[in-house]
Amino acid sequence: MVDTTKMMEKFLLKFAKQWIAGDDIDDALISAKEAYKNGRHAIINKLGEYHKTKDPIEKTIIEYDKIISSFRKWKVRGAISVKPTQVGMSINNTTCLNSFEKLINSASNSHVFVWIDMESSEHTDDTIQLYYDLFSRYERLGIAIQANLKRSIDDVNDLIRHGAKIRIVKGAYRENGRIAYKTREEVDQNFLKIMKLLFKDANEFGIATHDSKLIDDAISLSKKHQKKFEFQLLKGVRDKLKPDLVEQGFIVSDYIPYGTNWLPYSIRRLRERKRNIFLLGSSFIQSHRV
Ligand SMILES: Cc1cc2nc3c(=O)[nH]c(=O)nc-3n(C[C@H](O)[C@H](O)[C@H](O)COP(=O)(O)OP(=O)(O)OC[C@H]3O[C@@H](n4cnc5c(N)ncnc54)[C@H](O)[C@@H]3O)c2cc1C
Repeated sequence: MVDTTKMMEKFLLKFAKQWIAGDDIDDALISAKEAYKNGRHAIINKLGEYHKTKDPIEKTIIEYDKIISSFRKWKVRGAISVKPTQVGMSINNTTCLNSFEKLINSASNSHVFVWIDMESSEHTDDTIQLYYDLFSRYERLGIAIQANLKRSIDDVNDLIRHGAKIRIVKGAYRENGRIAYKTREEVDQNFLKIMKLLFKDANEFGIATHDSKLIDDAISLSKKHQKKFEFQLLKGVRDKLKPDLVEQGFIVSDYIPYGTNWLPYSIRRLRERKRNIFLLGSSFIQSHRV
């Protein structure tokens, strides 16, 4: 049984490598350089979440510091994207705030943009509060908001009123139907509603989706409203679409995760697309044929 689990994990890692730059910072920076060479920006995320002790949190901050200071050296237009539970929210909000303050100090010295990823709904209130606490001190700061949550339209209205920089995503976490839209149609409709609001009332935002219909809607909206925004796509997903968007003159960023803690991220990516599970299953069977 243990052997089968290990074998599956090893196999899944091979499959997951399409979405992950590699194990360490150098791998992430190579991917960032590659994106930059192709006219795109890079948003780097060190994999890891729900840290409950100080040691992994401190190591994470040191690594993000190194990334921040490497961007200039590597001549890459880059940002970092950090999960609150990666740097302390699973301990308490003060630890998390202190960690982000350290990151923001380094980021402001190097003029690097910092994104706050949004995790499952139990952290939404604290993450938005964290954003408000930090945004008053550092403006090159953005927050992800999930279209699958019913509350998000109100959150976005409030955030826009404060001049916030928002990344709109569909939402990667399983949520209860009481607080979340459950069908794809409802989530897409809410994404569109929020996107329209961003184009109308906000400036400097990220449209983070691989959905062609929503990307086309964003392109149409961008013709009506002259706003500073970028498309953000995950490394290894819709790679053929990215050069098209660059060619049309849009800013495109690759979200580049790296690190050894690849399993939760990869499972979220697998769940998003039934075809990925099918591909994983069939290549597993192929490789174990006698
Ligand atoms: C830059 C970026 C940052 C993100 N940050 C967050 C965050 O902070 N919090 C959060 O909850 N979520 C985040 N997400 C994930 C997001 O919430 C969705 O889970 C994810 O993007 C899939 O939704 P989609 O918009 O691409 O649409 P979907 O409806 O899932 O997919 C639309 C189409 O895109 C293609 N596609 C989508 N996913 C894949 C894949 N894995 N492999 C191959 N093709 C695929 C398929 O053609 C699919 O039909 C982020 C996503 C991006 C791109």
